[in-house]
Amino acid sequence: MNLHEYQARELLRRHGIPVPADAVADTPDQVRAVAQRLGGKVVVKAQVHAGGRGKAGGVKLANTPDEAAAHASRILGMQIKGLTVHKVLVAPAVEIASESYVGIVVDRGSQRPLLMVSAAGGVDIEEVAAATPEQIHRVAVDPRYGLLPHQGLGLGLRLYRNVAQARLAAEIMTKLYAACYAVGASLAEINPLATTPDGQVLALDAKIVIDDNELDRRPEIAALRDATAEAPSEVQAREAGLTFVKLDGTVGCCVNGAGLAMATMDLVKYYGGAPANFLDIGGSSNPQKVVSALRIITADPSVKAILFNIFGGITRGDDVANGIVQATQQFPIKVPLVIRLTGTNEAEAIAILTKAGFSALTDMDEAVKRAVAQANA
Ligand code: GDP
Ligand code: MN
Repeated sequence: MNLHEYQARELLRRHGIPVPADAVADTPDQVRAVAQRLGGKVVVKAQVHAGGRGKAGGVKLANTPDEAAAHASRILGMQIKGLTVHKVLVAPAVEIASESYVGIVVDRGSQRPLLMVSAAGGVDIEEVAAATPEQIHRVAVDPRYGLLPHQGLGLGLRLYRNVAQARLAAEIMTKLYAACYAVGASLAEINPLATTPDGQVLALDAKIVIDDNELDRRPEIAALRDATAEAPSEVQAREAGLTFVKLDGTVGCCVNGAGLAMATMDLVKYYGGAPANFLDIGGSSNPQKVVSALRIITADPSVKAILFNIFGGITRGDDVANGIVQATQQFPIKVPLVIRLTGTNEAEAIAILTKAGFSALTDMDEAVKRAVAQANA
């Protein structure tokens, strides 16, 4: 689950990381009032679940409250990476002497939280990683001991020659590591970690992604979810109890079981297609789940064919078949449907589908090839 910058800033603040004060607003008038209260120069920042807001024109400095309101009227309603901006953050503008990057991710390679820093901050860290990987410094933290003081200071000295600033950065890293654990983050980034001309070290931007598996035991973090900021298809899928990830291909996939769903996507690629989504309808699929799945997939205009791949075990083929038939009675399915179905209640399923005018295959390769051909036609 993604947090907004304003939510991430508040969590970091609570863990003792220096973050400038801020307020959130959703109208230009509110922005003007906040800017008046803060006094002086302010920064107005789009609150969307996307990076690179600065480059997209979603971060603007303003000298006066009126200028702040004018920026807000342009930023509110703007689209950044396909997401509409509904709120802006207003904070006192900080005079920046340097911009660094500090981030923690869960690293599969080392199976540890990985602390990464770079003195080349401010910009996209992915660009730094691609063009000048030597400018990124990493320490895999042993979770038994946490971030050790010499590790933090070592990384701090990669950012700043000034020892006092390196110590401040090390302190921030220790707090960021603690914050990650406390909130169940799979990623936490400060970019930029800025220095000011008078020597302060401040977090001017914060990004936190929460591991969804941590939400059940952290209701206060789960409550930070902003469904209005998420892709509508993903919200609908979550509400329907489906595991769904939107992708950018043309073959809509509807599969039971995460492993089979992954294998299906691999096979779609193998036969020259591209999956439009990952979708696991789960183990015990009642027809309603299948209807919801089809509603979500058919709403995506880039889907050119739909592939069902059902290997019935606990999932009963007749439930899935009934779901498909019910869906066609509720809304039009305008793209070809290729159904591969085998296992529990296969015969009943085929009878239901045949009666409704569908045909079903039992061979997975055959079905995937056919769906790819239809999507590419
Ligand atoms: P992002 O582009 O989505 O990562 O948004 P950021 O919050 O990181 O802002 C982008 C850039 O705007 C930063 O790298 C800074 O250069 C600039 N910026 C953000 N806040 C301030 C500020 O308070 N003062 C100044 N001078 N620049 C700022
Ligand atoms: Mn940033």
